[in-house]
Amino acid sequence: MFEKPVAHFLDTPIEYLKGVGPARGELLNKELQIFTFRDLLFHFPFRYIDKTQFHRIGDLHPGSGDVQVRGILRRMESIGEGPRKRLVAKLRDESGVIELVWFKGVQWVEKNLQVGAEYVVYGRVQEFNNNLNISHPEMEQVNEENIRKQVTFAPVYPGTEKLSTKGLDQKFRRKLVLELLEKISERELPEMLPPTLVQKFRFSSHLEAIRHIHFPQNEAQLNTARNRLKFEELFFMQLRLLRNKKNRRSSSRGFPFVKIGEYFNDFYTNHIPFELTNAQKKVLKEIRKDLGSGMQMNRLLQGDVGSGKTMVGFITMLMAIDNGYQCCLMAPTEILAQQHYKGISQFAEKLGINVGYLSGTVKGKQRKELLEQLADGRMQIVIGTHALIEDPVVFQKLGLTIIDEQHRFGVEQRAKLWRKNPAGAPHILVMTATPIPRTLAMSLYGDLDISIIDELPPGRKEIITTHRTEANRLRVFGFMREEIAKGRQVYVVYPLIEESEKLDLNNLMEGFEALSRDFPKPQYQISIVHGKMKPQDKDYEMNRFLKMETQIMVATTVIEVGVNVPNASIMVIENTERFGLSQLHQLRGRVGRGADQSFCILMSGYKLSAESKERIKTMVETTDGFKIAETDLRLRGPGNIEGKQQSGMLNLRLADLAKDGKILQVAREEADQILETDATLEKPEHSGLRKIMLQMDKQSQTWSRIS
Ligand code: ADP
Ligand code: MG
Repeated sequence: MFEKPVAHFLDTPIEYLKGVGPARGELLNKELQIFTFRDLLFHFPFRYIDKTQFHRIGDLHPGSGDVQVRGILRRMESIGEGPRKRLVAKLRDESGVIELVWFKGVQWVEKNLQVGAEYVVYGRVQEFNNNLNISHPEMEQVNEENIRKQVTFAPVYPGTEKLSTKGLDQKFRRKLVLELLEKISERELPEMLPPTLVQKFRFSSHLEAIRHIHFPQNEAQLNTARNRLKFEELFFMQLRLLRNKKNRRSSSRGFPFVKIGEYFNDFYTNHIPFELTNAQKKVLKEIRKDLGSGMQMNRLLQGDVGSGKTMVGFITMLMAIDNGYQCCLMAPTEILAQQHYKGISQFAEKLGINVGYLSGTVKGKQRKELLEQLADGRMQIVIGTHALIEDPVVFQKLGLTIIDEQHRFGVEQRAKLWRKNPAGAPHILVMTATPIPRTLAMSLYGDLDISIIDELPPGRKEIITTHRTEANRLRVFGFMREEIAKGRQVYVVYPLIEESEKLDLNNLMEGFEALSRDFPKPQYQISIVHGKMKPQDKDYEMNRFLKMETQIMVATTVIEVGVNVPNASIMVIENTERFGLSQLHQLRGRVGRGADQSFCILMSGYKLSAESKERIKTMVETTDGFKIAETDLRLRGPGNIEGKQQSGMLNLRLADLAKDGKILQVAREEADQILETDATLEKPEHSGLRKIMLQMDKQSQTWSRIS
């Protein structure tokens, strides 16, 4: 018989906390996803009111913002009728008087506030009819009990309007948390970190940290608590990632590609069109080591745009084919997949390798034949879009999967691809040109091996980036003419954002027409590509540009990823202020691919937000993708960086990957050291960690083995 598990006190439904009850409980569920005592406890304040600092009422002015004052409540009266009815009171200290106003919950206020008593009042100063007032202030009577509690910093919790109008205001929330904190001890919130760590960093106990994050006595205490909780958060995350990585290394077997065979040798001696850069060679060595190890490779290949990842991918494919396996290469867009297909087919043909293409547009007999050849193994390489992970595709012996620009593929999709291979788990190589800041890489891909190509092929000139406004347009056009006269080609890119799709399309068409007037036929030919076109038409236009039949390519961001036209040397970006930094960097990477000096011209309006200005400044100052990624992370926060959504791991409550890089680094090192000596966390001092890992595993069972 199994013992019935004893429910943990902190798992008690929130409605059973004194003062909550079913109705408020439901509100907390719905509005804040607070279901249990634990949820309430781990719902941290986002700021604090310094209860020791008071403004003098006489000093308040319309720009004072949120203030705390202290005074005697005077003269309370109802004014107006019906929906405009409001309650007005006065608060007086030795320096002056201010009005307090309530529009809602008037009855309750009338009943509960006492004229003549002393209150601490908190709220935002507003100006109305030349009068200062505070509407719906937070009120706390100054009395014995409050003085005894000595709250110096009052927590302010994320809340919703609905909650405060139903009486679940900040004051009440504080009361609930205090109530709960009084009930818990080390028994409910035991120390989970091993004692050596607690001593090493002089952490306060976990319980103390939780108490102090809600009700700190002073700033130092708050910082200590925050640091400890941030460390904990990052440490557990890293411990889990590193444990997974080690587990996979020791348990998940991969196909050993031991042979360096004919295809590889033939290509390397007879067909490779250029000398590999040292960075490419270094990465290929890392890959080769993985592939020969007998363990499954899970490698992320980061390399700035134009660094030559495709060649690394192709050579890796040859290693797989030499050992009798099939390969697939998945790209996020049809254009990119096509381009890969064309590029790789050229080489494959010379080597006598069978390459296929699969996307939603491949239908009928052609599709059927391809699927057959994949299933019986005749097709050695297949390149395509996410059509590759659709159900009917089955491989005979898939040994390697390469995913280009992976951030567009979800974890689930990748897991699907894995499952359709009867032979077992293929090696995985994920290629991305979106440089990921170190902290984010450590968190999102902490259990992958990471290779970095940090060198561009020789002979490339740094792209010159400038910022221009509408007033400079004629000069910009003049410059385009000069470059075109030298035989170069130009991209002109417009933003396309879902919500304003129609408007943007008009914008693009207007731009196209304006360009057509300034660059008339037959001297100039202009291509246009946008998301609303049929794939064949897009392809047709792309090809005209590739074959240099057109000199200008007007496009939306569909050309963002991977497209390679070495002769294009000018990138004009319209409405620059509407693009994100990493997108701008990606777009700029479309030029500078040949030997010519390339230019990126950022067009924008005059009026720019501070953030837009910083984005443009960053683009003008640097071409280093990693620097750009760091700035992007700082400006937007990790929540908005692509890739985050697929992680599910980054539900960080306190830690901020843009700011807490140092803590993260230390946490990772400590986690690594612990696993070094106790990989399975079996030692008694690690029992807390083992429990946490079990909990985390349970929470994320949907996470697949591929991260
Ligand atoms: P990305 O890393 O952005 O995917 P690509 O693989 O598309 O870059 O390579 C960009 C261009 O550089 C291609 O035209 C490719 O043929 C070329 N290239 C790649 N490696 C080298 C090299 N070692 N020497 C010279 N040119 C190279
Ligand atoms: Mg690429």
